[in-house]
Amino acid sequence: MTAETVLARINVMKPWLGDEEARALAEVVASGWVAQGPKVKEFEADFSHAHQVRHAVATSSCTSALHLALVVAGVGPGDDVVVPSLSFIATANAVAYVGARPVFCDVDPATGNVTAETIHAALTLDTRAVIVVDQGGVPVDLDPIRELCNRHELTVIEDAACAVGSTYKGRPVGTGADVAVWSFHPRKILTTGEGGMLTTHRADWAARARTLREHSMSVSATDRHGSLLAPPEVYLEIGFNYRMTDLQAAVGIVQLSRLPQIVERRREIAAQYVARLSGLKGLRFVADPPYGATNFQSFWLEVLPAFPTDREGLLARLADAGISARRGIMAAHRQPAYRWRDTGNAALQHTERLTDRTLILPVFHELDASGLDRVIACIRAAAGEVGT
Ligand SMILES: *Cc1c(COP(=O)(O)O)cnc(C)c1O
Repeated sequence: MTAETVLARINVMKPWLGDEEARALAEVVASGWVAQGPKVKEFEADFSHAHQVRHAVATSSCTSALHLALVVAGVGPGDDVVVPSLSFIATANAVAYVGARPVFCDVDPATGNVTAETIHAALTLDTRAVIVVDQGGVPVDLDPIRELCNRHELTVIEDAACAVGSTYKGRPVGTGADVAVWSFHPRKILTTGEGGMLTTHRADWAARARTLREHSMSVSATDRHGSLLAPPEVYLEIGFNYRMTDLQAAVGIVQLSRLPQIVERRREIAAQYVARLSGLKGLRFVADPPYGATNFQSFWLEVLPAFPTDREGLLARLADAGISARRGIMAAHRQPAYRWRDTGNAALQHTERLTDRTLILPVFHELDASGLDRVIACIRAAAGEVGT
């Protein structure tokens, strides 16, 4: 290859950030108040409004929000929490943080999400809560899960890390859970660099999460600095430093205002992939389930035996063409951190098939027509089609 023919690398994801975010950041810097303060409050109000939920509590990450969710739900040692193995490892880790046991359940082979049936198969006498995940942005079918969990008096926590902008039966995901958590890591739909959010309809849980995120201080730092002579603070229980900063929140406010555009563009790109690749044998694409719409945080495809190469072969072809695709969602039960732990004995066959056979294609706001053409041409060539 000569220097002229070296093509620019196409990443799997690139956050859409611009002048507006830079201006918002500059304003916060100029204000002199950079830690958790008025911007965090404003971001929380915008987020709860957009997600049709009463309370939103901003955090340092989705992982810290998950930890807080389990604490406010009262989950602790001796409790079992059903979680999908097919998820980023933070889902299971948060359960371990509170001293409870993650019990892995399988997923639906079409959506990659847990269902009432797969959860039911993993219930134990000690099950106290369930963490459902809108994997890659695909909404989980919550109503039957809610019904099952109500019957067994289980708390439903929704790990909506990937699902900002996804809908379930016409409403934003997360509204049907007891508590939902969200991520603003750059790999997700909206970004604040690092950051997360906890949402709930329960005022008592929101209030406790707010206190816990700030060392469980009886007087928040904002209020303390707002008064000349602050009252003495009391530490009500052992809390954490899980605060978001105003620098992050200012970026989040701008990002959230662009959510409809971001989701629209992602859905356009996904539609292009499907339209131009679905004629190929041996590939199956992620799609909207009948009850909702995904934001295509991850556009994944499953490489079936009818395709000329396997998943690893296709990933290598893409890498050779300068395209950075990714293996599909990991399976936590296979990781050393969990392999030797007692996590129940569920059969996880769909989880294993999906984690072994799926790959995630580049989708990001500024992926242009020529980038998309390159990805599509590479996959068509791998399928044995010439001159495409
Ligand atoms: C990314 C992700 C997390 C962790 O989010 P952070 O904000 O990086 O802590 C948790 N759960 C799922 C399903 C994720 O995809």
